[in-house]
Amino acid sequence: MDGLSAPPPPGPEDPAPEETGTVHEARRRLMTGAIAPTRPLTALDLCDRCGAPAYVRVLLPGSGELLFCAHHNRKHADALAKIAVEIQDETGRLASKPGDAAS
Ligand SMILES: [Zn+2]
Repeated sequence: MDGLSAPPPPGPEDPAPEETGTVHEARRRLMTGAIAPTRPLTALDLCDRCGAPAYVRVLLPGSGELLFCAHHNRKHADALAKIAVEIQDETGRLASKPGDAAS
């Protein structure tokens, strides 16, 4: 009884990992479960308080959603942390410059 050591035969279908971003997002979607899939914030997403470009999306219990710029995210962070089911923080995009990944 040594059937455990038999390797599976090599199949003709070898999935090429070309679209790693898509795979990653699909995996994220599975992990978040019932919550609607989060999409990246765009220039069309504006802060609910001041109308500046939003960098933080706050998902509330139910289907509520709030958008904040970096300034108002900092201002309301304490209160939001208590009620939010998920906080999508993209404020890192503000500080990071292209080609500056080394530091
Ligand atoms: Zn704002």
